Amino acid sequence: MPADTPITQDVLTIPRKLPEGPTNIVGLTRAQLREALIGAGTPEKQAKMRAGQIWQWVYQWGVRSFDDMTNLSKAYRAKLTEKFVIEIPEMVSKHVSEDGTRKYLVRIAGGHEVEVVYIPETDRGTLCVSSQVGCTLTCSFCHTGTQKLVRNLTAGEIIGQLMMARDDLGEWPEQGTRTYEARLLSNIVLMGMGEPLYNFESVRDAMKIAMDPEGIQLSRRRITLSTSGVVPEIARTAEEIGCQLAVSFHATTDDVRDKLVPINKRWNIEALLDALREYPKVSNSERITFEYVMLKDVNDSDEDAHRLMKLIKGIPAKINLIPFNEWPGAPYERSSNNRIRAFADIVHKAGYSSPVRKPRGEDIMAACGQLKSATERGRKSRKQIEADTGISN
Ligand code: SAH
Ligand code: SF4
Repeated sequence: MPADTPITQDVLTIPRKLPEGPTNIVGLTRAQLREALIGAGTPEKQAKMRAGQIWQWVYQWGVRSFDDMTNLSKAYRAKLTEKFVIEIPEMVSKHVSEDGTRKYLVRIAGGHEVEVVYIPETDRGTLCVSSQVGCTLTCSFCHTGTQKLVRNLTAGEIIGQLMMARDDLGEWPEQGTRTYEARLLSNIVLMGMGEPLYNFESVRDAMKIAMDPEGIQLSRRRITLSTSGVVPEIARTAEEIGCQLAVSFHATTDDVRDKLVPINKRWNIEALLDALREYPKVSNSERITFEYVMLKDVNDSDEDAHRLMKLIKGIPAKINLIPFNEWPGAPYERSSNNRIRAFADIVHKAGYSSPVRKPRGEDIMAACGQLKSATERGRKSRKQIEADTGISN
């Protein structure tokens, strides 16, 4: 891609409010909910309080029917039912891996599908959330990047993934109480399908809902947004979301990074590092996670490890080494365990934490970078069969 090629969000966006029919309140910010209630006839003076009550039912206790909101009058509940709905994406399928990882396929408006992955660990449970159907970027090692269809998810569809998972885990606290017996779902990573910073507003609004102390109550320290390096949006992420940041670094020279993460042609390593240096101060967050996918003979040498240490000097960082997750037809191979260990050693000796990400849910194709909707996969493989056999039907 030439350096001046604009990288745009060439994607469809679905309006929050359709021309007719009820409005979905899932995904509205508090201010938007208040406005919507006023628009539906709630007296202005009461709107803030009503929005707070509804908010609590929906996000704290997981209620999906206005009828169940017992601190609202019957007449008001009937009015709400007429004007609004409380809808989340529909779960189409669920696969549970041998290691307990759950992969969900969920259907969103328009019939598109995205994947959501729940990863249980001893001291936490992490939900890997998607922000787009597919991805406009084309990182050469990523399965999602080969998917043609792309659309931005709405804030409701993003936070809806978490609500769906909480339904499945049976983790809504009892009505009237505030504490969760178990925090099965304690962390969010925006590492599913899509580039979150190309869908900034929806991701921000959804994360604000996740962090709200009167609802889902996840601390911003338990939310990690992963970006391929959309430099202009990094400062905004610090100011407007303030979550933890992970960056898909993956290479130590511009030549290699141009091939692996093509957005590097637009914002190169130096520009990216400049933005990252500012992030912890502005967001008051801790370390930045540098994600580094280990690709055999591409980016995994000792020289790469030393160069990486030089590049990130001065940035509070943790290096997350990700053994490449292979997918059918992938043009790379995973580095050997010995190579990964040698690379990790150099990083560790330089004083950085260098966890090697344990591949989870591989048997159900739920691992990082393998996400791609089943319908899209089906479509492609049928095409492939047609091409191979010359038979079409
Ligand atoms: N678009 C965002 C977030 C989604 S990808 C981003 O690129 O950061 C989440 C992480 O998985 C990224 O670090 C991505 O580079 C990595 N990844 C993608 N494909 C992979 C694969 N096949 N094996 C291992 N990691 C992969
Ligand atoms: Fe998109 Fe991230 Fe995959 Fe790159 S690694 S194609 S940015 S999802």
